[in-house]
Amino acid sequence: MPHTIEFIAENLMQNTAEYYCAYCGEPNLTFIDLSAGGQQSYVEDCQVCCNPNILYVRVDEDTLDIEIDTESES
Ligand SMILES: [Zn+2]
Repeated sequence: MPHTIEFIAENLMQNTAEYYCAYCGEPNLTFIDLSAGGQQSYVEDCQVCCNPNILYVRVDEDTLDIEIDTESES
């Protein structure tokens, strides 16, 4: 089923996920590079209040479910 394989390959490369800002609680969209591994952490500024959130990203390699915990940088 070539259709299915293409779909999975696209999802393996990158995906978007939502997290809630640790400062203002507003939802933000972030771009996950799935080729970077199942556990990642990086800092991203909130699109609403511009404060730096530390994102802890976990990707389930079977289902590609993404979970994100946020922490304030200070
Ligand atoms: Zn915010």
